[in-house]
Amino acid sequence: MKCNQCQSEMVKDCGVNVEGVMYGIKIFKKGKGLFNKVSEKPKASVCPNCGYVAFYIDNYKEFK
Ligand SMILES: [Zn+2]
Repeated sequence: MKCNQCQSEMVKDCGVNVEGVMYGIKIFKKGKGLFNKVSEKPKASVCPNCGYVAFYIDNYKEFK
């Protein structure tokens, strides 16, 4: 994964937490029906060169 800003190699697999809270945030998309919701915990990648932070999820195909 390359940085959008400076094209440096980004550090992947960083955890995401809301400050002061033990649990992180979740990305979700509502589908039709009760059991059709997809949700995923995001990870972050950080550019060690310019500080740019990008969020990503592993199972992005579930959101199609
Ligand atoms: Zn960068």
